[in-house]
Amino acid sequence: MLKLTNISQLVSYQSVSDTIQTMSNIEILIEEETIRAIGPTVGNADEIVDCSGRLVTPGFVDPHTHPVFYKGREEEYAMRLAGASYQEIAENGGGILTSIKGVRNASEDELVERVKKRMTRFLNLGTTTIEAKSGYGLDTESELKSLRVLDRVHRDHPIDIVPTFLGAHAFPPEFSDDLDGYMDLLCDEMIPAIGEQGIAQYCDVFCEQGYFSVEQSRRILETGKTYGLIPRLHADEFENSGAAELAGEMGAVTADHLMSVSDAGIRALSDMGVTATLLPGTTFFLGSNSYAPARKLADAGVCLALATDFNPGSSHLQSMPLMISLACSYLKLSVEEAFRAATWQSAITLNIHDKAGSVEVGKNADLVIWDLERLIEIPYFTSDVPIYKVIKSGRCF
Ligand SMILES: [Zn+2]
Repeated sequence: MLKLTNISQLVSYQSVSDTIQTMSNIEILIEEETIRAIGPTVGNADEIVDCSGRLVTPGFVDPHTHPVFYKGREEEYAMRLAGASYQEIAENGGGILTSIKGVRNASEDELVERVKKRMTRFLNLGTTTIEAKSGYGLDTESELKSLRVLDRVHRDHPIDIVPTFLGAHAFPPEFSDDLDGYMDLLCDEMIPAIGEQGIAQYCDVFCEQGYFSVEQSRRILETGKTYGLIPRLHADEFENSGAAELAGEMGAVTADHLMSVSDAGIRALSDMGVTATLLPGTTFFLGSNSYAPARKLADAGVCLALATDFNPGSSHLQSMPLMISLACSYLKLSVEEAFRAATWQSAITLNIHDKAGSVEVGKNADLVIWDLERLIEIPYFTSDVPIYKVIKSGRCF
């Protein structure tokens, strides 16, 4: 038994009231990996963590990451600073091509070691569960390898990983003149193989002008569904292409990015109950100023989740506290709205809200103990947020 005592403030979504609640002078009792009691006094334990003057929250759930890559793309970042466009970088063999070569040439063991280090960093920043996508292999063997890497790291590392197949991240270079050929490879070979091996839960597509069209995305997501893969979608990031409408039509759990979503797209998300996962880190990291219309989405009744989009090209960021800060400053969310989006709502998009995303009796003991007293201090500290301990499945880190 592990007990957190003298908690100054516990802030969490609560199912009973469907609100974010703050409780003061509280104890939490944890047995193995489960929260057994929450209250003013909760009984005895053999291990005690004193939380005097400290805030406790649920661990963050990051519902959109691309962590399976071989190495960073800092040269490309520097080229962009010097004025090179994304197109020029791609023409010089950079961009996603660098990551594709990296994953194809790396061994499974090499990737496992690198991904584990990234997971430790996520955990140290207070993230206890992530959704993680393949998508830098883009051939059958390398996509399967990427998903095996995620499966091995999920088993070997304390963090929980929910795997998504993103073979439709881009068209690989060998198919640049044969898009239909790659579509057939995706739908006739990759998705069936992934479905049979059961190593992904979701199927995602980069639905965007110059990547996968609405028609191609529909075919991929429909094929995924027949193999039990639930749709999520990269939607309307650079241009409005009707991707949000497709997310509604396909019953996707979430449509992500949405910087260029149309009013019709917003209505489709609202009508079909699709969550909008917003990734303000991408806009920030690319030095752009095109943020998603979060207030418009929220006012239309769309539920919002928040994620890092951690990847080597457009968002080399892993901090959910930073995402909360960006969501407050640039998406104009309240601190409570951003916090809910980074915990409870993100857990819903992964269908893990029965065990993660809130601090409630019977749930997984995934907690962050902060060297802070109040929730409002998290965005105020931006990325330099003092975390005292992270508890994942009842273990202290
Ligand atoms: Zn992404």
